[in-house]
Amino acid sequence: MEKVRVRYAPSPTGLLHIGNARTALFNYLYAKHNNGDFVIRIEDTDVLRNVEGGEESQLRYLSWLGINPDESPNQGGKYGPYRQLQRLDIYSKYADDLLSRGLAYKEYRDDSEHFAIRFKVPKDKTFTFKDMVRGELRFESKDVEDWIIVKDNGIPTYNFAVVIDDHMMEISHVLRGEEHITNTPKQIMIYEAFEWIPPTFGHMTLIVNEHGKKLSKRDGNVMQFISQYEELGYLPNAMFNFISLLGWSSPTNEEILEPNQIIELFNDDRLSKAPSFFDQDKLRFINSKHLKKMDLEEITLFCKKFLTKANIKIKSESWLRDLVSVLRDRLTYGAEIIKLYEEFFHEDFFISDEAYQFIVENDCLNTIKALKEELIKTVFESQLIEEAIKNVGLSANVKGKLLFMPARIATTGDMHGPSLPIQLSLLGKDLVLKRINETIIRMENKQ
Ligand code: GLU
Repeated sequence: MEKVRVRYAPSPTGLLHIGNARTALFNYLYAKHNNGDFVIRIEDTDVLRNVEGGEESQLRYLSWLGINPDESPNQGGKYGPYRQLQRLDIYSKYADDLLSRGLAYKEYRDDSEHFAIRFKVPKDKTFTFKDMVRGELRFESKDVEDWIIVKDNGIPTYNFAVVIDDHMMEISHVLRGEEHITNTPKQIMIYEAFEWIPPTFGHMTLIVNEHGKKLSKRDGNVMQFISQYEELGYLPNAMFNFISLLGWSSPTNEEILEPNQIIELFNDDRLSKAPSFFDQDKLRFINSKHLKKMDLEEITLFCKKFLTKANIKIKSESWLRDLVSVLRDRLTYGAEIIKLYEEFFHEDFFISDEAYQFIVENDCLNTIKALKEELIKTVFESQLIEEAIKNVGLSANVKGKLLFMPARIATTGDMHGPSLPIQLSLLGKDLVLKRINETIIRMENKQ
């Protein structure tokens, strides 16, 4: 098999969007799965649409996702330059060639000085190509008008420049969004005009919202820029994982995968024809699974960023570690630690019906009173709290469930949860005693 060379060719018209990232990722995966090269080329010929910082954002967030090119505008490579505006001489040479062979013609503007160049579309021809995703596709040349390959400002159009570049950069496969299907016949005409062999094309399925409509940048309720996910504390590997499933599925049907596993498994016959739903719940789920893989040290450091940004006072490193160890199981993205923190430290206290029933039916009032007496004299460190709870067992003469349940219920309102001594030390003595008092009063009044 020829060497696989693929490219991601963004126009620097904005921030890295989920759809672009999917295109980049699938090309990257296809290259890496086949030991090929992944090239980044900047298609900046639509000068009016270019935005300041667009290219930088694309490159920065691709690198954040772990999609690292073998050749790119910054690092260069033997097929450079990798920005189209730096390749204008090349396009102009090929346009002249088409003009001289009568395959294109000039179209003068009113000032009779400037001209555009149009490609002469061959008559009555059928163009076919085998799409990697959709199988054989056919187009009739009569459906395509003679089209502009070079504008009157001398800058080539996308459909022309892309062919010259893909050919010269020895691109073997082009995976791109479905919106480019109708461009493909125009591009194939150019390949034929130069007697070049076109690459293999594959047009990926649409990404749709929950109503089955194409995800649009104006869809306000779906975050679509990679930068937004980074900011909220989504992990690069989780994003990599989630995006890889937008139009591809693993042969093992596993959904939680690391980048190297995806590269290993990425097989183009698992590319889907059906639109792929941008499911934010699934993204959160995948992110939470990747967060769970972090060890306590790592996730503590990760959460610290968000807490600090929200001006939450970090009492000490061990307090922070305890906090994260208590909340981490419920965390689906980094910034959520702030919401969980607020829920955890709220003043109001609520015992679920089931939990209240437990302490009533098991006559736990005395145990709870003993807990109060012990905790009053305890310094609130998890180790010491643990000992205090043990002492309650002795003084109230209870053990096991009859000790731990009332202790948990009277202080947190819940029947289940992470390590109670750690939770209590985080909540602090005042709040814990206040809650115990409330529970005692309620039980005494048989409410
Ligand atoms: N510059 C084009 C875009 O951003 C690239 C299309 C292609 O991959 O051929 O959509």
